[in-house]
Amino acid sequence: MPHSSHMRASEVASMVSLGKRTAVQFAAAALEAQSRSASLHATLAISPEATMRIAADVDARVARGERLPLAGVPVLIKDNIATGPDLRAVGDGLGFGGTTTCGSKFLETYHSPFSATAVERLIAAGAVPIAKTNMDEFGMGSSGENSAFGVTRNPWDASRVPGGSSSGSAAGVAAGIAPLALGSDTGGSIRQPASFCGLVGVKPTYGRVSRWGLVAYASSLDQIGPIATCVTDAATCLEVLCGIDPHDATSAAKPAPALVAGLELPLAGLRVGIPRQARSEANHGAVTGALNTAADALRSLGVEIVDVELPHTDVGIAAYYIVAAAEASSNLARFDGIRFGRRAVVASTDSLETLYSRSRAEGFGTEVKRRIMLGTHVLSSGYYDAYYASAQKVRRLILGDYESAWARCDAILMPTAPGPAFAIGEKTSDPLAMYMEDVYTVGINLAGLPAVSVPAGFASLGDSRLPVGVQLVGRAFDEATMLHLARGIERSLDLDLVPPAIT
Ligand code: GLN
Repeated sequence: MPHSSHMRASEVASMVSLGKRTAVQFAAAALEAQSRSASLHATLAISPEATMRIAADVDARVARGERLPLAGVPVLIKDNIATGPDLRAVGDGLGFGGTTTCGSKFLETYHSPFSATAVERLIAAGAVPIAKTNMDEFGMGSSGENSAFGVTRNPWDASRVPGGSSSGSAAGVAAGIAPLALGSDTGGSIRQPASFCGLVGVKPTYGRVSRWGLVAYASSLDQIGPIATCVTDAATCLEVLCGIDPHDATSAAKPAPALVAGLELPLAGLRVGIPRQARSEANHGAVTGALNTAADALRSLGVEIVDVELPHTDVGIAAYYIVAAAEASSNLARFDGIRFGRRAVVASTDSLETLYSRSRAEGFGTEVKRRIMLGTHVLSSGYYDAYYASAQKVRRLILGDYESAWARCDAILMPTAPGPAFAIGEKTSDPLAMYMEDVYTVGINLAGLPAVSVPAGFASLGDSRLPVGVQLVGRAFDEATMLHLARGIERSLDLDLVPPAIT
């Protein structure tokens, strides 16, 4: 039996708004679903007391006649998005619960003094946070295996990964703990787990959603976005998240767009490009199948499918892993064991340098150390031009590829990932194989564009039936068109996307 909480956010919000059920009832059901799904390792620190307090407040606001787009909707929040004292139990300020760990031992006991703008906007819209979610440490990973707090499992097949780095956000929504989650996407971390778990995941245009309170991985690439079970819920959540924030200088001075209103309108007359490079031999057969199915669905809705070229797709991985590592090496310098992070025990006669290096050696996991070393190397004098400066040039070329493509189409359709969910442990010993997971996602972050992953089929692997997503990429700040097209694919395929029961 699937969990009773496999409800859409829109259904929950309308029931709570109409007084048929309360936010408190939905929150209690979500907490229960969370304990039933404990074996997935999707969630981290929680404060049930804070959850129930916020739910009761939503019920009071609804009773006063406030209209809340996410009234009583349980949400999960990736653990690199700050949650402040309001999301902790009273008197539990420094105890268990309410931490923002980024999946790192370094921040195991870190309590943020404030909540991210995205979290505040969700709560203002009536959403009720249920838990923080497990993730690859500091967002570095594509499988959920790089967390200091254990591997997250895929609800479709517990021997497989849910994708990463927003592993717990996707696994938690797929398992029915909550209909909605926040993830962050630096190079694919919302879209790839959404694809692996049969969900809709949106990476907004860079600047669309405030990054205030998102612990920085690579600041020129990071964006917060929703993971949901359907396009309408993702669009509703994104409408709530959008808008300028004085706390984030890179947030765009654009009014929040209307994303839900146009979703059901006809699609005829739109043009969608499929890049030749998306049909790589390296794709799993089910990925090519899903791409063709999605293209046929769009054609049947009157959309014209055209060929486009993204010639720099292959070099995107190299450019991304240089730019992202360079920015990470600088962003993570703040974790020194003094201002932030777990401090190593050293002798009073030891130097400050020893304190820094021991704290960092003990606190960071292997992949994070690899990225810091890579990032420091590519920025060092003598290597800067060869690596970092070249990667920035490639970044410009990738943006140019998209600019040329927009002359021929309104959105671009391509795979989200080259394959379906892989087995736990399958790629851990080969970092390059893991990085190749991101071949279709990273270029979009380098170009700053919006993209949505939407389910488009299944892969049969042994006894497992695994969902496969495709992504639609939009012009900058045109989330509306790509979501409209994604809704068209969703409506015409009408896939059954509830995973088997968790045992
Ligand atoms: N897998 C990519 C990385 O490890 C992307 C991660 C992300 O989007 N946070 O950098």
